[in-house]
Amino acid sequence: MTTDTEFKAWRVHEKDGKYEGAEETRRIEDLPDNDVLIRVSHSSLNYKDALSASGNKGVTRNFPHTPGIDAAGEVVESNGRPAVGRQVIVTGYDLGMNTDGGFGEYIRVPADWCVEMPSGWDARTAMIYGTAGLTAGLCVAKLLRMGAVPDQGPVAVTGASGAVGSVAVEILAGQGFKVVAVSGKADQADTLKELGATDVVGRDALETSKKPMLKPAYANAVDTVGGGPLAELLKQIHPGGSVACCGLVAGPKLETTVMPFILRGVNLLGVDSVEIPLADKQAVWQKLAGEWACPKTEATARDIGRKDLDKALQAFLKGESSGKIVLDHS
Ligand code: NDP
Repeated sequence: MTTDTEFKAWRVHEKDGKYEGAEETRRIEDLPDNDVLIRVSHSSLNYKDALSASGNKGVTRNFPHTPGIDAAGEVVESNGRPAVGRQVIVTGYDLGMNTDGGFGEYIRVPADWCVEMPSGWDARTAMIYGTAGLTAGLCVAKLLRMGAVPDQGPVAVTGASGAVGSVAVEILAGQGFKVVAVSGKADQADTLKELGATDVVGRDALETSKKPMLKPAYANAVDTVGGGPLAELLKQIHPGGSVACCGLVAGPKLETTVMPFILRGVNLLGVDSVEIPLADKQAVWQKLAGEWACPKTEATARDIGRKDLDKALQAFLKGESSGKIVLDHS
C-alpha cells in the first residue's frame, strides 16, 4: 500500500447547480490526513446519504464529495489502535458529511471514530444495521435505562416500517415487549407482525386533537417521526412512561403543552447516534450482535453495488425505499 495506490469511489460533483454521482478512480493520498486507513468492504444506505448526494448543504458543504455515513472493513494502517488487520465499524461523526465516506473503497478517519467489530460479526452484518440499527438500539437502551419493562404495557413505535422503526420493533419484541407499530403503510402490516409487532395501527391513531391530554394507551414509545404525531403520543403515555425521540420525518416542530410532563411525569428522551462518545456506540453494537440481534431484518437485507447507488438514493428521496440496503464494494 502506497500513497499513490488507486481505488474506486462513488463521487458526487456539482455541475451548474446540479449534483451527479459516478464511480471514479482516487488515490490514497487524496484522502484526509487522519490516523486510521480502512479498506471498506461494505457500507449502508441512509436517507442522509441521499441528502448529501443531492447537494443538501446542511449535510455536505463542499463538492466533489464521497458520501457514505456508514462504513465497515479492515484496518490497513494505524498508529496502534485499532490494530492493523482488525475489522472495524465507523458510523456518524463527520463520516460521509464533509469527510470522504463509505461509498469509497478506502476511508481515512481518526482512531476515536472506530468501533471494533463485535466477535462473531462481519462487515456485511454490521452494515445491515448501520446508523439506523444503531439509532434503534440507542432508543431502546434509553427506555431500559428509565426502567421500562414488558409488564408495564405496550410500547408504541412510530414510523414503524422505516429503517429505524423496523429494527426498534424487532428488538423490543425480542425482549418480550408488546409492540404497537404505528405505520402509514397498510401493506406493511404483515411484515411488521412478522418482526414481532402485536398490533399495527394507522397514523390516524396519532392524528392531531385539540385535547391537552388523552387516555393513556402506551407505557413507553420509540418515536422516529417527530412533529404532530410526537405531540399526540406524549398525551397518550402512561404515568411515568418515556418516549425516546430520534427523528423528524413528520416535521421538526414540536407543539405541546407541559401537561404530559407535569400531570403524568412523562419523560421525553432525546437520542443522537452521531456525536455521542464511542463507548456508548460500542455498547449498543455489542447488544445488536448479541441479545438484541434481529434475524428477520438480517434475512431480508438487500445488497447493491456502486453502479446501483444513484437509483437507490433517488428512491430514498422519493420516500419509496424500503428494507435494509447494503453497499458491497467487491
Ligand atoms: P425512513 O425513511 O426509513 O423511515 C421513516 C418512516 O416514517 C417511514 O417509513 C414512514 O413509516 C414514516 N413516515 C414518513 N413520512 C411520515 C410523515 N409525514 N408522518 C408520519 N410518519 C411518516 O427513515 P429512518 O427510519 O432511517 O429515519 C427515521 C428518522 O430518524 C429520520 O428523521 C432520520 O433523520 C432520523 N434519524 C436520526 C438519527 C439520530 O441520530 N437521531 C439517526 C438516524 C436517523 P410508516 O409508513 O410505517 O408510517
